[in-house]
Amino acid sequence: MISIENISREYRSKEGQVRALSHINLHVAEGDFISLIGPSGCGKSTLINMIAGFIQPTEGTIRLNGKPIRKPGPDRGVVFQENSLFPWMTVEENMKLALRNSRKAVDYYLDIVGLKGFHKAYPHELSGGMKQKVSIARTLALSPDVILMDEPFSSLDEQTRIQLDYELKEIWEREKKTIIFVTHSIEEAIYLSTKVVLMTKRPGRIQREWELDRGKRWN
Ligand code: ADP
Ligand code: ADP
Repeated sequence: MISIENISREYRSKEGQVRALSHINLHVAEGDFISLIGPSGCGKSTLINMIAGFIQPTEGTIRLNGKPIRKPGPDRGVVFQENSLFPWMTVEENMKLALRNSRKAVDYYLDIVGLKGFHKAYPHELSGGMKQKVSIARTLALSPDVILMDEPFSSLDEQTRIQLDYELKEIWEREKKTIIFVTHSIEEAIYLSTKVVLMTKRPGRIQREWELDRGKRWN
């Protein structure tokens, strides 16, 4: 589904050129739940942002269903760490902004994340975990081919994170999604993933990949 072919990425900074990623190759199959782990600065966000199409590789190609990725598109949904909801809009308005369609989809996806009946709530009325659930519902409602999640639960307390990990896993299985997930936690990666990708820094490379036999993989 996604093939990352010999990707490198450099940034220009005050210290000169920084090589954030060097010759990355990775294959993502439909139905995979891939976790990217590794120390701060190893290029996890850079990789996610390139798959999203927010930034371009300096070298190499990323293909989605055979086509090179050049810009953001509705075939890729992104869930950020936090603060992705507009505070002056209700849950429903936040979702419709992305959707441009029916109330039914809003209801359906709010139900999936366990927030049925929260349409009229404003973000400040929700807990951190609930806000992330709305972000997930909004992304699911777009029906992207792949969902990219950059440390989506790392600003939540431990209890809430464990709860959301559990719920995300259920959603992944039930909705048959392909997910690429960035985390600092090896525990979280092992719990959620079909494949764990360990990265190292200076420059960012893939050190090792582990395939985990979930037994529950949907395809
Ligand atoms: P991670 O998500 O694993 O923490 P990042 O992708 O954020 O890693 O960063 C990888 C490397 O690229 C780091 O050395 C970081 O300082 C550098 N970097 C990231 N974004 C920029 C930028 N916009 N300008 C300059 N350097 C950057
Ligand atoms: P936080 O620690 O972020 O304030 P809470 O303790 O309020 O979170 O909630 C813990 C978990 O229960 C989170 O997954 C949150 O999204 C969920 N949750 C809290 N209240 C509700 C609710 N009324 N309906 C559905 N889920 C809820």
